[in-house]
Amino acid sequence: MAKKIERISLGSMSPGTERHLLVHRYGKSGARPKAYIQASIHADEIPAMMAAHHLIRLLDEAEKRGEIAGEIVVVPVANPIGLAQNVAGTHIGRSDIRGGGNFNRGWPDLFEGLVEAVESKLGGDAERNVAVIREAIGRRLAGMHAEAEFPRLRLELYRLAYDADIVLDMHCDDEALMHIYLTNDFWPSGADLAAETGSRAVFLSYESGGQSFEEQFYLAFRKLKLHFGDRFPIPPTVLTSTIEFRGQFDVFDDLGIHDGKALYRFLQRRGLIAGDPGPLPTLLCEGTPLEGADYMRAPKGGILAYHVKVGDVVRKGDLVAEIIDPLAEDQSKARTEMRAITDGLVVSRCSKKLVAPGEGITMIAGKEHLSHRKGPLLSD
Ligand SMILES: [Zn+2]
Repeated sequence: MAKKIERISLGSMSPGTERHLLVHRYGKSGARPKAYIQASIHADEIPAMMAAHHLIRLLDEAEKRGEIAGEIVVVPVANPIGLAQNVAGTHIGRSDIRGGGNFNRGWPDLFEGLVEAVESKLGGDAERNVAVIREAIGRRLAGMHAEAEFPRLRLELYRLAYDADIVLDMHCDDEALMHIYLTNDFWPSGADLAAETGSRAVFLSYESGGQSFEEQFYLAFRKLKLHFGDRFPIPPTVLTSTIEFRGQFDVFDDLGIHDGKALYRFLQRRGLIAGDPGPLPTLLCEGTPLEGADYMRAPKGGILAYHVKVGDVVRKGDLVAEIIDPLAEDQSKARTEMRAITDGLVVSRCSKKLVAPGEGITMIAGKEHLSHRKGPLLSD
C-alpha cells in the first residue's frame, strides 16, 4: 500500500493567509494496530520535529520494502499556528498569542456524551465494545464543526488520532533529560517505549489534569470503565504517551537519528512494521508517580542561580537553587534558598535566568506521592 500525503486546510484567519496540516499516511486505512504520531503541538519544541523528520525517512524506506504492517499516521508539524508566532524576533510556540492559551491544555473531553451514545450497544465482548466506542467517538467528531484556526486544528488532529491503538505526542522540555509520560494502565507494559527512547524518567498518572491532547484518547475509555464498573468489559485500549525529547536546545541530527530509530524499533516491537528490532535496550529508570514529581516554583522574582544540574540525584532538603534579589540593599541577604522536598532525579531545569514568582524552575522525579500534588499535575 503506497504512502499517502494529505494536506488539511485550517481555513483562513485573515484575508490572503491560510495554513494547513501535512499528514504522512502509511499502510492500509483501518489496518491494525494503528499508531498516530505528532510533533511539536508546543510549536517551539523543535527536537520533536527533528525526531519526526528522521522517523519519516525510515518509514519511507520501510514502505518501499513493503514492511508496513499496520497503519501509521505521522504529523510532523502539529501546530503550524504556533510555528508562525514570532514576536519581535522571538518564537512564541507554547501558547496562542490570539488568547487561546497553552496549545496543549484544555482539549475537549472525548468522554462527553459517550455514555448515552454507547450504553445500549455495549455487551460482554471487550473487543466489540472497543469498536462501538471508537465508532461513537468518530461519529461525534465527524459531526463537529469549527471555524477559527485553533479549534479547527484541535478537531482535525482529533479526527486523525481518535481510533489509534498508540498515540505518541512528541514534545521537549526546557533543559532536560529524555523522559516520557505514561498512564498507570500502561506501566510496565509500555516500558518498551521508555527503554527504546533511553528515557531517564517515566512519569505515571491516570490523569494529569491539564486536559492535554494525547491523554483524552485514553481517558475516554477509562472514564467509561469507571462509569460502567463491571457491567461491561472496557479495556484501557489506547497507549498514549507524551515524549519529551530532552531540552529545547537539543536539536542535532545525531540525536534526531537516535530518536527516529528508537521510535521505529518501538513500532516494530508493536507489530506495525515488519523486521527484527533486536534486543530491547536496558531500561534506564523505573516509573515514578507524577504525584511524586517535585515541581519547584520560584517563591519570588529574581535571578536564578542553580546548585544542581539535570541528571543530579538530590536528597530531600538539598539546596537546589537560590533566587537572588538584585535590588536588595544588603546583598548579603539577597538570596532565597529553594530546597528539594523529595529524594529524586533532577529531570529538568528552567533555561530562563530571570524568573517571576510562581514560575517552575526544576522538576525532580521522586518515588513517593507528595501530599500537595493533587488536581492539575502539569506545569503551565
Ligand atoms: Zn510541550
